[in-house]
Amino acid sequence: MLTAYDDQGKPVVLYRYSREEIKRLKSRSFFCPVCQENVYIRAGDQVIPHFAHFQNSACTERKGEGEKHRQGKIDLMNWLMEQDIPAVLEYYLPRIQQRADILVKWRNRWFALEYQCSSISREMLIKRTRSYQRMGITPIWISGKKRRATSKASKINLTHYERFFFYEWDARFPPVLYFYNPEDKAILMLQQPYPVKSSFYGTLRRYPLSRISFSHLFQVERQPDSWIYSSWLNEKIKFRTYRSRFFSHDDHEFRQWLYQLGYHPQHLPSAIHLPTPHHFYIKPPPYIWQSKIVLLFLHPMPVGSVFSIKQLSHVMNRHNSFSTDLPFVLRSPTPVEEYLHLLCKCGYFDQIGPDRFRKVRNFTFFKTLEQAFDGDKTLIKFLLSCSSNTSPHCRRR
Ligand SMILES: [Zn+2]
Repeated sequence: MLTAYDDQGKPVVLYRYSREEIKRLKSRSFFCPVCQENVYIRAGDQVIPHFAHFQNSACTERKGEGEKHRQGKIDLMNWLMEQDIPAVLEYYLPRIQQRADILVKWRNRWFALEYQCSSISREMLIKRTRSYQRMGITPIWISGKKRRATSKASKINLTHYERFFFYEWDARFPPVLYFYNPEDKAILMLQQPYPVKSSFYGTLRRYPLSRISFSHLFQVERQPDSWIYSSWLNEKIKFRTYRSRFFSHDDHEFRQWLYQLGYHPQHLPSAIHLPTPHHFYIKPPPYIWQSKIVLLFLHPMPVGSVFSIKQLSHVMNRHNSFSTDLPFVLRSPTPVEEYLHLLCKCGYFDQIGPDRFRKVRNFTFFKTLEQAFDGDKTLIKFLLSCSSNTSPHCRRR
């Protein structure tokens, strides 16, 4: 805890005092903003000066935070102060009984910066988020996990827990996840995430605090789709050839379902297992939900049939595929819509109304693995050429 109240009820932010001043402060009384109990100063060569509870305290803040957490909060606080943005360190909100690492007022909106260095339970994270939101405060969770920036798109492993921290501030901007490492004094932003199981394709860009402002957190640039298509061919090969004695529960269930229908991954059309900008809304990997949409709904219908996205979404809902625990995403557009538009681009369907589509071509199933590889290569090459061609009429016939 970096802030406590003195006996006049005034907040004292310890890191702003010199060693000499802190020595003198030690003789005075300080109180925890959360439990009002007496707290004492801990300062030494090895630690950032902070307040600590006495051993028998029952306060929720009693469990101390690490040096990294303390340093991260100080860095972020100084960064905001240098920009003249009103901010309070460790602001306690009695109504929701939560203490924000940093409460920020920016352009008439309130934000709570939460620098998360240890994992809290998913339930706790969602509860804390909802409490802030009820007070009209937008929490921004910043992960303290050390990551290395990459200049080009690469595959990054994220914990299931880190997925919750994805933000989508505006439908025009791609989703983003924030990291901060005090050793590096830079914020990393993972942008445009395309997950496959626990790995994410994305770019992890590094922004030194000295070079960015708070508003940069909300300005994420969308890159052209070409980078993801060039990485995705490998994913398709892996999907078709992957063998394991230890499939995950989802994979095992999926394969059983596929075999019962008489299919193997190597037979499936190339249009299955394609990336869409928002497929991270859906927990299972794209090959699972796209197989369900194609094999249960799109493949059986004869050429010429007309249908709506609503009908398609119904198939998805029946299979319970949407993730419900992403508190900071807009959920629009849906990955199902994006997928259908991609299939239109690939020449399988025509859009004939705002929510009406007509099937114009059957899917090709493959007899051999070689044919499947060729089919995948051709499709990815086509999508790559479309993403470098800005014409909206890029279509495959
Ligand atoms: Zn306390």
